Amino acid sequence: MVDNNNVELGFVEKTDSHFLCSFHFPSKVGGKPAWLSLSPLPSNKDLECSKCGKILSFLMQVYSPFEESPKAFHRALFVFVCRNVVCCSKNKNDNFCVLRSQLPRDNEFYSPEPPKEETDGPSAKLFQDLCVVCGLRGSKRCARCQSATYCSKEHQEADWKTAHKAVCKSNLPTTATGKGNKTLGFFRRNLKDCTKPVKAATYTAMKGFENLTSTSKQCNYSNH
Ligand SMILES: [Zn+2]
Ligand SMILES: [Zn+2]
Ligand SMILES: [Zn+2]
Repeated sequence: MVDNNNVELGFVEKTDSHFLCSFHFPSKVGGKPAWLSLSPLPSNKDLECSKCGKILSFLMQVYSPFEESPKAFHRALFVFVCRNVVCCSKNKNDNFCVLRSQLPRDNEFYSPEPPKEETDGPSAKLFQDLCVVCGLRGSKRCARCQSATYCSKEHQEADWKTAHKAVCKSNLPTTATGKGNKTLGFFRRNLKDCTKPVKAATYTAMKGFENLTSTSKQCNYSNH
């Protein structure tokens, strides 16, 4: 952070995972985003690498409230990066995406009072399905159990190999032809998403998610 030529350094320390939940307004590195505005989240299209087209990975978020502005009583910056090394080139930021999210003190998600240590609060999961691997929107669903949700085929495959295969149980009705059907892990579009198609107009109504990096992205985020 640079302010009047002062540089503020932060250090990463381990903490109890409870304090990394959205309602504690954390700054954090790695893991899944603790979204500030809980719904709607940025679309996965907004988080595609402009070079290779793959979904970017969450790198870190910084809580940086700007209390002089009522609109930014809560403010957080979310940094995403492409894991593909070939997308990284010197002095270029096109393998990064930075989103700013801000909320007024009175908002639909959080109490206007500071969070109490011991209590629970809302998370983005209450409002939409999230990818169990990366915490972005999970608009794709395991066709077998209908419960695990993913952002992409890549994350569904990765989860299948490392964890989901052992716990996935078929939820499909058994039919004469369906018995013994071993076709696992195909996606279908999440029904919720099918009934509510994402339109460009949705983005303008998004609460405070703004793209601070690329000007070339096909979305209505402002980039300043
Ligand atoms: Zn890339
Ligand atoms: Zn994912
Ligand atoms: Zn499953």
